[in-house]
Amino acid sequence: MVQRERIVREFIKLCSISSPGGRERKIADQVKTVLVDLGLEVEEDAVGVVTGGNAGNVFARVNGTGPGPALFFSAHLDTVNPCDQVVPVVKEAVVYSDGTTILGADDKAGIVAILEMLRMLKEINQPHPTVEVIFTVQEEGGLKGAKAFDTGWLTAQMGYVLDSSGPVGSMVIQGPAHNGIEALLHGQAAHAGVCPEEGISAVKVAARAINRMRLGRIDPETTANIGTINGGTAANVVPERVLIKGEARSLDPQKLVKQTAHMVACFEQAAQEMGAKAEVTTFLEYPGLRLDPTEPVVALAVQAATAIGLEPRLESTGGGSDANVFNGAGLPTVNFGIGMQKVHTLKEHIAIRDLETMARLLCSIVRQAGSENGGGDAAWFRKE
Ligand SMILES: [Zn+2]
Repeated sequence: MVQRERIVREFIKLCSISSPGGRERKIADQVKTVLVDLGLEVEEDAVGVVTGGNAGNVFARVNGTGPGPALFFSAHLDTVNPCDQVVPVVKEAVVYSDGTTILGADDKAGIVAILEMLRMLKEINQPHPTVEVIFTVQEEGGLKGAKAFDTGWLTAQMGYVLDSSGPVGSMVIQGPAHNGIEALLHGQAAHAGVCPEEGISAVKVAARAINRMRLGRIDPETTANIGTINGGTAANVVPERVLIKGEARSLDPQKLVKQTAHMVACFEQAAQEMGAKAEVTTFLEYPGLRLDPTEPVVALAVQAATAIGLEPRLESTGGGSDANVFNGAGLPTVNFGIGMQKVHTLKEHIAIRDLETMARLLCSIVRQAGSENGGGDAAWFRKE
């Protein structure tokens, strides 16, 4: 059975290791040590070199000893700031930071659940399908580790990411694709007091474009935002240059195309009308996530959750995670709610019960995947 004390000890240890994006070396080494101690061959890719970080994605495989589809499980090694000298504090079976940093349950709670499941595989020593684990870097800074991960290494064709803030038992099976938009507007500089008529204000072009733009919640499936505007040089100069950054997201690929085209057109039209120039670039930040509840990856998770008395909840999100990237690579991937609360804040916390239940859920998935009839295998779940 999963061991609560062991899980808590490991969670506190991992949270205490500072690991902002690009600076995951220490935690990557710690996770590698655990994997090696479990007798696994561990690999690390060169993503860090490419993206300027000091660690790559860490991955390992436990070869199958029984029937069932190979599965992968993934969590990210990095956290947001502030994460210098995290001091985890346990109060009434809930783990918090000391209030001066984030805790890092996002996503160290996911990491410990995966590590505990691997320990269980070894300790129980029952037939199981192949299990692969991927610990990614630089998730918070734009899913960079997952995007650079070579999925050709995987034998698993479906998997699970542990990185949603929903309650344990919740499963994100729908999330929007996300386009980034950057518009560089070129006007004409001129002295604002002497000869303003010789100038073309890039700020006014931006204002006209944005004023016409549909932004915010476009429909139940689609959102759009202009996030930053930078430009101009001084109060007495007609601004020549403005750089605008924005985004659009939609669960529906066609709506995303339409909204993105609309935003581009607003910039281009306003520029043309005012004698300016607009250089607009759009790029796919990450692909969408759209799984049918009947797909094996979802059905298996639902069955596994139910088997341990959890109430599975299939959910849609407005955010993105490594699961989007894996799905985009053709690997159906569910993102699990792991019970972490108030993530990305100094009040971040997680209940010990959730850390434990998440490990049990992963064990249940592996067990269900390997059993033809979903029958009980007492060794996995002896009552404590
Ligand atoms: Zn996360």
